[in-house]
Amino acid sequence: MEYDYLIVGAGLFGSVFARQMTDAGKRCLVLDKRSHTGGNIHCETIEGIRVHRYGAHIFHTKDEGVWQYVNHFVKFNHYINSPIARYHDELYNLPFNMNTFSKMWHITQPEEAKEIIAKQTAPYRNMEPENLEEQALRLVGQDIYEKLIREYTEKQWGRNCRELPAFIIKRLPLRFVYDNNYFNDPHQGIPVEGYNALIEKLLKGSDVLLDTDYFDYIRTHPAPKIRTIYTGAIDAFFGYRYGCLEYRTVSFEDEILPTSNWQGCAVVNYTSADVPFTRIIEHKHFEFGQQKKTVISREYPCEWKPSMEPYYPINDEANQALYQRYRTLADSQDDVLFGGRLGSYRYYDMDQVIREALDAAAKELA
Ligand code: FAD
Ligand code: UDP
Repeated sequence: MEYDYLIVGAGLFGSVFARQMTDAGKRCLVLDKRSHTGGNIHCETIEGIRVHRYGAHIFHTKDEGVWQYVNHFVKFNHYINSPIARYHDELYNLPFNMNTFSKMWHITQPEEAKEIIAKQTAPYRNMEPENLEEQALRLVGQDIYEKLIREYTEKQWGRNCRELPAFIIKRLPLRFVYDNNYFNDPHQGIPVEGYNALIEKLLKGSDVLLDTDYFDYIRTHPAPKIRTIYTGAIDAFFGYRYGCLEYRTVSFEDEILPTSNWQGCAVVNYTSADVPFTRIIEHKHFEFGQQKKTVISREYPCEWKPSMEPYYPINDEANQALYQRYRTLADSQDDVLFGGRLGSYRYYDMDQVIREALDAAAKELA
């Protein structure tokens, strides 16, 4: 069989690209080294509950084109992400909003919250934040930083908040209304049939080879060169010749519990340093599940080492500079297009990956 495209990675980028090309009459071969498609949005069913195998995935977007695109394949439910933060025995609503402030300071009105935050942020107001700590203190002040940000962030990233870039928390909303919706985007939800159904529909018409590492494949199939879409790690493509890009990774510990509702919501963040995990996900709540049992996953962050799954790029200066060197090499490859969160070494949300893939496919077909 002759193919027009060899697509490395059956995650969202590879699958959207494959769909667009297949619809345009091109033939695609999609490889993935994992034993399933979907990349990090893959779900596994345990006790009749869809478990987000690589961490909680909530679809949210303000990109109307992307929203229409995904709705063409699957319907979305009306799940709204409203996580809880637990600091020792104190529970707070996220994102930072009037529910958080009233619990923290025993106040009721927005003006009272604004006054406290203004007082606490005053020393930092006129500075350009150079790291995450300065950004947090400038945004919400000491109390919230100490209870809900500092220890959680240092646990999550394994680095001092003063060594982390400010942008990591720039996306956290701050609101003076009683609204626990974690996202500001107008569209949000979980596919009613699950993320696997979305991927299946995107890959329909493509040939897929699982458990197949690209580097092994090209060694054993040194066949005619075809255009390659590569969504694996960019440094791996070049044999790590300038050194390894760094990532943070996470591991999950599942537990099946004989109760229908264990924590009352999908996501609880454990923000204190004495608890080794960052979050507990109770998966059934993403889909309002009524099963008699429940499945929870504790999420443990750790430093990435080669052979582990890379999750979060460490976007500090040293890694960005290294990435730019690989990017220059990537741009000089005529037959290979790099994309997705590993190919671009960027923390992309799902909608951004879909946008990137749609734009790349449109350019390819122009
Ligand atoms: P991936 O899903 O990583 O797919 C790349 C694929 O390439 C993988 O399947 C991999 O096995 C394969 N591959 C790599 N190298 C090779 C090789 N050499 N040979 C063959 N195959 C290879 N986004 C949201 O919008 N909302 C969320 O709530 C959200 N939560 C997240 C939570 C966590 C813990 C993480 C880590 C990410 C989250 N994201 C979320 C981001 C989301 O997962 C990504 O945007 C999206 O899944 C990336 O798709 P991708 O195709 O670029 O990469
Ligand atoms: N964060 C925090 N406390 C929380 C939740 C998030 O300090 O309870 C910070 C932390 O630095 C984290 C960043 O906000 O890395 C982004 O968190 P979010 O949950 O939005 O992203 P995710 O980890 O799901 O990618």
